[in-house]
Amino acid sequence: MINLEEFKEQAHKFVDWITDYYLNIEKYSVKPDIKPYEVYNKLSVKPPENGEPVDSIFEEFKKVILPGMTHWQSPNFFAYFPANSSLPSILAEMLTAALGAQCMKWETSPAATELEESVMNWLKKMTGLPGNFHGVIQDTASTSTLCALLTAREKISDYKINNEGFKDGETYRVYCSTEAHSSVDKAVKIAGVGEKNLIKIETDKEYRLKPDVLEETIKKDLEAGKKPLCVIATLGTTSSTAVDPIKETGKICKKHNIWFHIDAAFAGSALILPEFRYLSEGIEYADSFVFNPHKWLFTNFDCSAYFVRDKQALVKTFQVVPEYLKSGNQGKVNDYCDWGIQLGRRFRALKLWFVIRNFGIKGLQDKLRKHISLARYIEEKIKAHNNFEIVVPANFNLICFRFKPGNITDNEKLNELNLQLLNKINNTGKIYLSHTRLKGIYTLRMATGQTNLEQKHVDQAWKVIQEQSENLKF
Ligand SMILES: *Cc1c(COP(=O)(O)O)cnc(C)c1O
Repeated sequence: MINLEEFKEQAHKFVDWITDYYLNIEKYSVKPDIKPYEVYNKLSVKPPENGEPVDSIFEEFKKVILPGMTHWQSPNFFAYFPANSSLPSILAEMLTAALGAQCMKWETSPAATELEESVMNWLKKMTGLPGNFHGVIQDTASTSTLCALLTAREKISDYKINNEGFKDGETYRVYCSTEAHSSVDKAVKIAGVGEKNLIKIETDKEYRLKPDVLEETIKKDLEAGKKPLCVIATLGTTSSTAVDPIKETGKICKKHNIWFHIDAAFAGSALILPEFRYLSEGIEYADSFVFNPHKWLFTNFDCSAYFVRDKQALVKTFQVVPEYLKSGNQGKVNDYCDWGIQLGRRFRALKLWFVIRNFGIKGLQDKLRKHISLARYIEEKIKAHNNFEIVVPANFNLICFRFKPGNITDNEKLNELNLQLLNKINNTGKIYLSHTRLKGIYTLRMATGQTNLEQKHVDQAWKVIQEQSENLKF
């Protein structure tokens, strides 16, 4: 293993490399041109008996690993949702790795715990969340939503399911829209509710949950002796960033005493913009709320901000205190291992703190506004083009569109063409888009949210899209 002196030399080289990487990131193919197991087959089957110099490991990283990577930090990355990093985030992550601290309890890393409480309160203020919410950093929105569901389950059963398991003949029901994220499906499986008891409520023409259908469904379930457990509304769906009606849904939950969770994994970041605050009207009805700074707030993965109103219920759901973890400060401080599933926790608050301080609220707002205005700019161009159409107007910075030459009306044919177009676009390596299906329409998705995105990148993207559409044979 290298010693400290060699470490210092290597670390400087790494920083030089990282700087060059970011300077030249646009030269890489955004998506690698690679076949399954192409990388694996280049890797040594046997772990090394004797230590190897960092230089040679690094060389192999550049030669074998890097060409097989997708460049998520490239401004030409428009697929899925961004998983943004930023320079202050990288710096903080270096410190986190160096400290290598376990941040499970206050005792095990007091400053990490207190910084986490402090930055989560900042986020609360920045996004306008109710003051009586309590925040904790989870790894992902999937975990946050699972925590919400488990807490709801324990609260409704008076903490009996944790203790005795499910009672025979008891059926709990969970509701979300047909557009909700697949992490909800996963959570109901894990929480023992059962996929069959996840009821997907139809959406209106803008892909928002229909509250009247929700209420009717709940009433029917109650009449049938089923127990409504949780409603999950989405603020910014994954397919098209639709925003469910938070207030109406919240009122229904309140009336029937159902846990109300809001999944704002991606679009929650937009709540730092006063002009988008109206979308969260009714948030005071929520029992829990999640959004991912690791998506659109420039804090590298993983960092999911989970907020809950009833902190006691959360802790009661997860807390287990074995003798070896008992401490004198129990109850006086936050022990975040009791606020979720994992015991061991990384020091994730540090990068968030660096990001918020280095950007400033103003800097973060400027970035988001820029991304949103670039989306509007490119949306106008797509709309104006005879051979393209907008499938659903952009709410934030996700453009949902498709190729639709005037002489083709058959939807299946159009779906096939758009699938072909997407492959052609991505095979250029110049940009990377992804897709979804909206009411049977194969839709191209272009998210303009990468940290270093500039107008020239969206201009280039639009050029590539048009060029590739002209190459389509039909
Ligand atoms: C991305 C996304 C998720 C999942 O986020 P993870 O942090 O990867 O678990 C959940 N819900 C919505 C609406 C999303 O867009």
